Amino acid sequence: MSFPGFPPMPDFPAGEVWLAGAGPGDPRLLTLLALHALATADDIVHDALVDSRALDLRRSDAVLIPAGKRGGRPSPHQRDINEILIERARAGRRVLRLKGGDPFVFGRGWEEASALAAAGIRFRVIPGVTSGLAATALAGIPATTRETNHAVVLAAGHRAEDGPSTTDWAALAGLGQPLILYMPMSQLADIVTALREGGLAAETPAALVQSATTEDERVLESTLGALVDDARKHDIGSPAILVVGAVAGLRSRLLPHLVGWR
Ligand code: SAH
Repeated sequence: MSFPGFPPMPDFPAGEVWLAGAGPGDPRLLTLLALHALATADDIVHDALVDSRALDLRRSDAVLIPAGKRGGRPSPHQRDINEILIERARAGRRVLRLKGGDPFVFGRGWEEASALAAAGIRFRVIPGVTSGLAATALAGIPATTRETNHAVVLAAGHRAEDGPSTTDWAALAGLGQPLILYMPMSQLADIVTALREGGLAAETPAALVQSATTEDERVLESTLGALVDDARKHDIGSPAILVVGAVAGLRSRLLPHLVGWR
């Protein structure tokens, strides 16, 4: 694949694994490198959150291998996914491991990259648009502004398999910086309670962005005090990003003129 006037795309040699991010959903947010990888790979090992229209960009004879990890459903063990990548690469396949968002942001990309390194397999990492920053931007919520903050925290609301979060929510609340939380829904009430106990006021702006860039996209603006009730009332579910802090209250100023995603 080549694009006029652009640097040439890298070769995808047999026996290599490319660990790529597919962005938050809409396939138009794929990077050109991810698109090139999709159009070239022999085997594509993909997460459940990767849009089927992105996968449709594969070669007609490419092999699709679902390796989705999705809350509540049985999903392959990380060890088995690592094994598949290693076996396919050793068989001389060009393997694309395609993950939602960015592979190194709460995506277990590190586990796979380090397993490949340990097995002596050559690999490349292709960043993707991470959902925490895409969901907020598209909803009209800036991650930073000069008036409100010079730092922003990306945190996980829960750990995918190992039970409750070990995050020190009180410490994060005490930073006085906006929090962008991935996987917040299964423990929403506990997170809100912990942030309130950490000193954040009930009036602190909070927003949930569900299924950003997809047909099901929904944005809920609320406050920390009302969030749990509002989320229940509006039936907000996963996948969603939670934003807490002053920036979450800014979107109303943009709304009349902010063009929606679709
Ligand atoms: N590596 C991914 C994150 C994987 S963890 C990334 O960089 O985006 C999965 C979590 O990502 C979900 O529980 C949800 O919090 C978030 N997420 C993924 N896609 C999303 C979307 N389209 N809209 C809102 N949140 C999303």
